[in-house]
Amino acid sequence: MAGRERLYRTEAVILRRSDFGEADRLLTLLTPRYGKLRVIAKGARKTTSRRAGHVELFNRAELQLATGRNLDIVTDAQNIDAYKRLHAELPRLSYAYYVAELLDKLTGDAEENPPLYTLFVNTLAALDSATTLDLVARYFELHLLNLLGYRPNLFNCASCQSPLTEAADRWSPASGGMLCPLCAAREPHALPISLAAFKALRFLQREPLAAIEQLQRLSEPLRRETEHILRATLRPILERDLKSVEFLDAVRFAS
Ligand SMILES: [Zn+2]
Repeated sequence: MAGRERLYRTEAVILRRSDFGEADRLLTLLTPRYGKLRVIAKGARKTTSRRAGHVELFNRAELQLATGRNLDIVTDAQNIDAYKRLHAELPRLSYAYYVAELLDKLTGDAEENPPLYTLFVNTLAALDSATTLDLVARYFELHLLNLLGYRPNLFNCASCQSPLTEAADRWSPASGGMLCPLCAAREPHALPISLAAFKALRFLQREPLAAIEQLQRLSEPLRRETEHILRATLRPILERDLKSVEFLDAVRFAS
C-alpha cells in the first residue's frame, strides 16, 4: 500500500456506468474543472453499500475521490439531484441517454469546460421537468456545437459571412449553418430549410433554456425539420450515428 493517496472533491454527473470486476463499477463522470473523468466506485454493486445510491447514472453528486495508480476511486458521494422523474419515465430517460452519449462522443478526457458542465446539468434538469423534450434536445445540440467550437451560423452566411435575410432557405451541414442565396447557388448539397425552422433555430440559439416552453405549439413537421437539420450537422462531426438515436426513435414511435 502506498498510503499516500491524495484526496480531492468535485461536483459531477455520472455520464456512463459499467460493471468492473466482482462488485465495483467503472464510472464516466462529467465535472466542471476536470472535464470527463473515468473513475472506480468500489463495492457500488453491493446492495448494502451505503454509497450505491449515490452513483446512479445521470445523478448529480458531490464526490470525494482518491487518486489511484491508474483510475481514481470514489471515496464518498453526496447526492445533489437524482432527477427522479427522468428515471421514472422512459421518454425522458431515452433523451437523457441521447444527450449523454452525444456529449461523451464529442469530448475528450480531462478537457476543462465549466460552461459545458452547466449546459449538461441544465439539460438534465429540463429533461426531468419540461413538456417539450425534443426541443430540450435541440437546444442541447445547438449549444453543445457552440461550446465545442462548431457554432452554427444563423445570423451571418456560413460561407461569405454576409448578414442573412429571410430570403435565406438553404442549410449547409458542411459549412455549418445557413447560406445566403448567392452562396446557396454554389452549394448543390445544401439542404432546403423553411423560414419557420430557420427562425426556430435562431430562437433556440439566442434564448435561455427556460424559454423553450414558448415553442410548445410548434407543429410536429417543423420539429422534425429542425431535428433533421441538426442531425445532418452533427453526423459529419460524429462520423457515425449514435446507438441511443435508435433507442430514442423506438421509444418515441412506439407511443
Ligand atoms: Zn454567402
